[in-house]
Amino acid sequence: MVRLRPVPVRLGLGTLALAAGLSFYWWNFGRAASIGFDAGLAARAAVGVGILAHLLMLPLLLVVLAAHRVRMDVWEERVARGRCAACTYPVGRADVCPECGRETDAPLPRRQAVRLAVWFVVAVMLGTAAGSAAAEGWILLDEARFRREARAAVAEGTGWYFRARAWPNRDCELHYRADTGFWAAD
Ligand SMILES: [Zn+2]
Repeated sequence: MVRLRPVPVRLGLGTLALAAGLSFYWWNFGRAASIGFDAGLAARAAVGVGILAHLLMLPLLLVVLAAHRVRMDVWEERVARGRCAACTYPVGRADVCPECGRETDAPLPRRQAVRLAVWFVVAVMLGTAAGSAAAEGWILLDEARFRREARAAVAEGTGWYFRARAWPNRDCELHYRADTGFWAAD
């Protein structure tokens, strides 16, 4: 059976990387309200980041599907003109293209559009999960660093220690006071 080239791996990896980057960035803001891992907050952030990633990357999918549509039109036109759909060699009534050896009466790969859409959703989901997990790890590391700094500051006699969170959410501050403990403030 004749096939168009499979979905380019680079497209899948690019989609995954873009979703991971966006999710990493958003996660740093979505879960900034509290210090330490909070399962409820993480679940809400995961849903929000997942929905946002799919919505924002939808235009990319539409562009890919439009490009696929154009390719299928080219395919149909070649077949209508008696040419090999894969290499454009004039095949006439031959069952197999004498130039590239592919079958000439193969069905159009229409289902590739469905495959493209499934690939896209899977790539965005994997990228979102990876980016969110990386961001959570990044935040937890920064909070651990902050706890060490706060204890050192308190040991030196400072009653109140605070600083900005790590990039990218520098607008949010981490605080520690000996009497009230740790908290985060936007
Ligand atoms: Zn051919």
